[in-house]
Amino acid sequence: MSMPHSSTDNPCLSCGACCVTFRVSFYWAEAEVQGLAEHLTEKLNPFYSCMAGTNKASPRCQALDGKVGEEVVCGVYAHRPSPCRELQAGDEKCNRARIRHGLPPLYSEPQAA
Ligand code: SF4
Ligand code: SF4
Repeated sequence: MSMPHSSTDNPCLSCGACCVTFRVSFYWAEAEVQGLAEHLTEKLNPFYSCMAGTNKASPRCQALDGKVGEEVVCGVYAHRPSPCRELQAGDEKCNRARIRHGLPPLYSEPQAA
């Protein structure tokens, strides 16, 4: 999820696909730096943690509220870890997640001439 949820034309608000597709892992110290609540993260190994609920065959980040493809909100938007900040609406991972959840891809990147 890549934009503030105050924006009315934010495609993420009616999506949330990336939050139920990928394991959202990050260097463990990020959780403290970002101020993420401990119960919303899981330790993966001595170096990495992930958002709780995303280390599964059918992931769903525990910070996600709402119904995917209809109306969603990230409950920790200001504190979300780097993978959530790096993923941009319309990029390759975004579109892969959307297609996996039956949503049309977003085309934000210029097409080759
Ligand atoms: S998959 Fe794309 S459009 Fe959907 S929430 Fe994630 S970044 Fe936003
Ligand atoms: S922290 Fe927020 S943006 Fe990141 S996966 Fe969870 S619900 Fe999505």
